[in-house]
Amino acid sequence: MAIPFIDLGAQRERIGASIEDGIKKVLAHGAYIMGPEVRTFEANLAAFAGSKHALSCANGTDAIELVLLGLGVGKGDAVFVPAFTFVATAEVVPMTGAEPVFVDIDPKTYNMDPVKLEAAIAAVKAEGRLKPAAVIAVDLFGQAADYPAISKITQAHGLFLIADSAQGFGCTIDGKQPLEWAHATSTSFYPAKPLGCYGDGGAVVLNDDALLERLISFRVHGGATPTDAATMNYTHEAKYLNVRIGMNSRLDTIQAAVLIEKLAIFAEEIDLRQTVAKRYNEALDGYVTSVPYVKDGYVSTWAQYTIEHENRDGLQVFLREKGIPTAVYYPIPLHQQPGYNMFTSGTGDLSVSEAKAKTVISLPFSPYLTAETQSQIVAAVKAFRA
Ligand SMILES: *Cc1c(COP(=O)(O)O)cnc(C)c1O
Repeated sequence: MAIPFIDLGAQRERIGASIEDGIKKVLAHGAYIMGPEVRTFEANLAAFAGSKHALSCANGTDAIELVLLGLGVGKGDAVFVPAFTFVATAEVVPMTGAEPVFVDIDPKTYNMDPVKLEAAIAAVKAEGRLKPAAVIAVDLFGQAADYPAISKITQAHGLFLIADSAQGFGCTIDGKQPLEWAHATSTSFYPAKPLGCYGDGGAVVLNDDALLERLISFRVHGGATPTDAATMNYTHEAKYLNVRIGMNSRLDTIQAAVLIEKLAIFAEEIDLRQTVAKRYNEALDGYVTSVPYVKDGYVSTWAQYTIEHENRDGLQVFLREKGIPTAVYYPIPLHQQPGYNMFTSGTGDLSVSEAKAKTVISLPFSPYLTAETQSQIVAAVKAFRA
């Protein structure tokens, strides 16, 4: 049997029947938009995250944009993002009228380097064109960004801190999730993410009541919040009082039904992911340029198992010929992307991101990857001599 890059089938075999029951219930009650499962899932997600609130939305990209809009980030603002991440982290910034400022990464964790962040903030202040407003830290490949260090910097400069945890939702530092340090955490339920649904979906977890009110408004066309409505005169439904320019970004009820079942086993799956990652680490250490490094006290959700190899492209072709799929996250850092190379604020030195884009390669990974399949993959990697 062909080895899948991410094996979604193994989980379906395990909980497929209960997911189908959940979907059938939605088909029977017919509340496809904002049905009861959406509320139930949001409550369960908040419980998992240890947050006061969880707000679901249409995808992980909207989740970040909703937070920026809710925090009032816009024209003239600088938003600091890592140069080495999925494009969505930076994409939402110009959508709000603000500008992304790229920050280089730590060579071992691939996450935003706090020292480089400090330098980028200083460069933007010296340039004087933009006002530093927010930092979006990314939990790349599943490992939490260095929130203790980054939050010290954002506090010192009066900036908002957003955790883009699309890949790392559920990750921890000394047992604490990113929301311990961030104003809000966003995530994605794209099927291949550690907590995925059967289509598109996303969410924000947060503790701030006032921010939640604004997110609810922005999620559905900028409708009046109870606070807005209390100060305004109108005779029609509050729903048709549009106080701000919003979006349409709801999680489908059917996807919420899927996620209720998946979230129920998510903590256990995060544990299984540790076992699979450990097996890879032990088998591959010393045979490739580097195996993933997870900092002391950090627990990764292993959205990807990413190694480095000096002849990355050669290894990829060699593995493909042996029937082993791989992926490169990410071949081009964001500041070099044609759609983003006009954003030039910051220090300009993004050399770590540029170097990593040439050597990273991700191997097949899922919580249900068997030791047997893994040794096949490991043997193939070891057989490649550059
Ligand atoms: C997947 C991803 C997103 C976007 O999620 P979608 O649900 O696909 O919109 C944002 N940031 C990061 C780091 C991601 O990996």
